[in-house]
Amino acid sequence: MTTQNVKIAYLYEDLMNTYGDSGDIKILSYIFKQRGFTTTVDTISIDDQFNAFDYDFVFFGGGQDFEQSVVAVDLQRHKKTLSEYIEADKPMLGICGGYQLLGEYYLTSAGEKIQGLNILPFHTVFKADSRMIGDTKYETKWGTVEAFENHSGRTYFDDKDKLSFFGKMVEGYGNNPDEGHEGMMYKSTIGSYSHGPLLKNMNIANALADKILENKKVQA
Ligand code: GLN
Repeated sequence: MTTQNVKIAYLYEDLMNTYGDSGDIKILSYIFKQRGFTTTVDTISIDDQFNAFDYDFVFFGGGQDFEQSVVAVDLQRHKKTLSEYIEADKPMLGICGGYQLLGEYYLTSAGEKIQGLNILPFHTVFKADSRMIGDTKYETKWGTVEAFENHSGRTYFDDKDKLSFFGKMVEGYGNNPDEGHEGMMYKSTIGSYSHGPLLKNMNIANALADKILENKKVQA
């Protein structure tokens, strides 16, 4: 029997990898190995060609405002393939800056409007009074998550019927200081503000690995 390989696309790993987000990929690769699969990870960066459907999972980590503004321009080339991939219910995880860029825009502390992919109906804005930084704890449908957040952007959904929240805050801010919710879910795409990395929470890592392998089986 040949070993099956899980193919992961890591968007802009060289520019968007704050607070150990690449740990999410390491944890998933470890789980796949335990389950008898090999994993290959392709980093997609500036000017690279990319077809999301070549992959079983797409990952997009967090970044600082400057790097995000550079990435946001190049990223527009991949709007079609990513929106089709997300609509096709294929698995994707965006963390912090990577999450923000799936929405319409991110208005930074410098007053710059960084255009997102505008695939999902939410937007992110800066407000002067606080940066959301510290430990977080929240409840998801897969159980409790403990992580770390550090962002100035506050995310608000524009279509609350279409999107679901990823979690309900127990500690920390999540999307914004007003609503008590963390992250976003749409089909098999998750957006989250959690670094740490998020997938050190093995309940979430295993649920995501299940989803990725299930999706792979449907394809085979
Ligand atoms: N630069 C964005 C913000 O401050 C995202 C931060 C991050 O990805 N850690 O909101």
